[in-house]
Amino acid sequence: MSDTTRRVALVSGGSRGIGRATVLRLAQDGFDVAFCYRADPDAARALEKEAAELGAGRVVGRQADVSDADSVRELVAFTQEQLGDIDVAVVCAGITRDNPLVLMRDEEWHEVLDVNLDGTYHVCRSVVFEMMKRKSGCVVTVSSVAGVHGNATQTNYAASKAGIIGFTKSLAKEVGRYNIRANVVAPGFIETDMTAGLSDGVRKQAEKSIPLRRFGRPEEVADMVAYLVRADYVTGAVFQVDGGIVI
Ligand code: NAP
Repeated sequence: MSDTTRRVALVSGGSRGIGRATVLRLAQDGFDVAFCYRADPDAARALEKEAAELGAGRVVGRQADVSDADSVRELVAFTQEQLGDIDVAVVCAGITRDNPLVLMRDEEWHEVLDVNLDGTYHVCRSVVFEMMKRKSGCVVTVSSVAGVHGNATQTNYAASKAGIIGFTKSLAKEVGRYNIRANVVAPGFIETDMTAGLSDGVRKQAEKSIPLRRFGRPEEVADMVAYLVRADYVTGAVFQVDGGIVI
């Protein structure tokens, strides 16, 4: 039986990086949190253990592939069964497959669009109707500065992340009258596995172009998510967390 006084959040791609920091932050802010991962159960179990040790909200992970609509429906059913109605959905799962356009393989294009953009659609499609019935809900999607400004070798990624912004703004207009808010966080360079593979040269160049002269921490993005979760009069907005890289 779930405790009906607690609020429930679902975080896609919650086992590592920004999603992981978001899971821990929301759990510390009083949420019970379900998260999904695609391939790394060890990281998921370690996160559940860390949350339990913190004595924060209940945290449960489940394998799901956000590019697969049925898998996401099962994830949402699991969350409702384990924790109760979903108050907040954070759509964080994302991948890169960088290549200049002329070298891009069709699989690289489709994989990125399937996970990042279709994945966002699948999660929102599966949670928003229940939120409408309850006249309450909050969605935070995760885009990127590449989705706002573009980035060489990332036509696939930037297209998916720009799509997420258009999607989220449209959703905000559509469901605002049901007291559901939808906002976007657009990170710059953040210290996660996604950026761990950058060469020293690329990294140094990137740091030089950031006014704050460093990459961000996942917790700094989770802070923005946590703000948006409680910002009752903010919807349809895009918040960059990027150390000033696109001023
Ligand atoms: P990350 O460290 O690579 O972690 C990605 C997470 O997403 C993992 O939990 C992974 O699970 C999960 N995931 C990947 N594909 C999935 C799928 N098909 N279905 C379900 N889960 C899946 O990534 P990150 O750097 O934290 O990035 C998180 C989000 O922020 C992404 O949307 C990314 O585009 C965006 N972002 C990141 C940066 C950055 O600099 N890091 C900058 C701008 C935007 P497994 O480990 O099991 O695969």
